[in-house]
Amino acid sequence: MSRLLKGEKASLWKRIRDWAFTDVGVLVRGIDESSLERLEAILLGADLGVPVTLRIVEQIETMIRAGTLRTERDVHDTVAATILAVFSGIVRDTALQRAPGGLPTVWVFAGVNGVGKTTTIGKLAHRLVRQGKRPLLAAADTFRAGAVDQLRIWADRVGAGFIGSRPGADPAAVAFDAIDSATKSGADTVLIDTAGRLHTQADLMTEIAKVERVIARRQPGAPHETLLVLDATVGQNAMAQARVFSRSLTVSGLVLAKLDSSARGGIVVALAEEFGIPVKLVGTGEQVDDLEPFDPDRFAREVLSG
Ligand code: GDP
Ligand code: MG
Repeated sequence: MSRLLKGEKASLWKRIRDWAFTDVGVLVRGIDESSLERLEAILLGADLGVPVTLRIVEQIETMIRAGTLRTERDVHDTVAATILAVFSGIVRDTALQRAPGGLPTVWVFAGVNGVGKTTTIGKLAHRLVRQGKRPLLAAADTFRAGAVDQLRIWADRVGAGFIGSRPGADPAAVAFDAIDSATKSGADTVLIDTAGRLHTQADLMTEIAKVERVIARRQPGAPHETLLVLDATVGQNAMAQARVFSRSLTVSGLVLAKLDSSARGGIVVALAEEFGIPVKLVGTGEQVDDLEPFDPDRFAREVLSG
C-alpha cells in the first residue's frame, strides 16, 4: 500500500502532532475548549465522521485530564486504537464470495457515475485471469454512450470474456444473458457493470434492484457479491451514496476507489462505523495492478505514519 494514502500521511498524523505539540502545547500545558475543538476539526477534516471523531476527542480529553496522555506515542496509540475498534465489529474477511458447486460466480458492481466501477472491474478481471480464472465482463450500463466500449476495451486488455449490449437494452436482461453465456462458455466469474446515472435517482434504484432480482431468479444464491463502489475523493458524499444504494440493494461489500488521490481516506472509517459493511477492495490508481484487498491494521498504521 505504498502509494496508498500518500496525501493523508502528510496530513492527518502531522496535523495531530502539530496540534499536540506546537499549536496549543496540549502535551505541555494541558488543554482548553478551543484546543479540543481544533482536534475535532482536524479529525472531521480527515473524513473520519462525527461519531468516531467525538469518540477520539473524548478519549483524548479524558486521558489529558487524568494525566495519562504524556507522549506523542500516547496520542498516536489512542487514535489508532479508536480507528481499529471500528473495524473490530465488522467482518474483516475481504475474500469475495464464490458460487458453490461449479456454478458461475456472479458479482454485481453498483455506484454512481464516475466513481470507478468499470475500472475496478477491469482490474479485478486482470487479477482473476492471472489466478487462472475465466472472468466474463457484462455491460449492463446501457444508458451511457461509451460505457459498453469502455468495458470491452478492459476485457480485451486483460484477456477476459465480454458480453455487450445495445444502448437502451434492459440491464436485467443483459445480466440474465451473461449468466447463460458463462454457463455455456465455461466462464467461472461474471462481473456485471451497471449504470451509475439514469433519468432520476429513483429510476436508477429501481433498475439496479431489478438487476439483482433477475439474477437471483436466474441462479438461486446469486449474486454472490453486490459491491458498492465509492470514490474516496468525494468525502461525505460517499456516505450519502452508500445510504441511498443500501436502501435498494443488499450491499455485501464496499470498494473504495481513488484512495491514492484522496488526502482524506478517513472516509473508510466513517463508512465502517455507519454501515458495518466490509470494505473489501481499495483502488490505488488508474493502472491495472492498482487494486488491493483492504487491510484495517495496515490502514490504521499508514493513516498515522509519517
Ligand atoms: P464508472 O463511471 O463508475 O464506471 O467510473 P470509471 O471506471 O469510468 O472511472 C472514472 C475515472 O476514475 C476514470 O478516469 C478512472 O481512470 C478513474 N479511476 C478509477 N479508479 C481509480 C483509482 O483507484 N485511482 C485513481 N486515481 N483513479 C481511478
Ligand atoms: Mg462505467
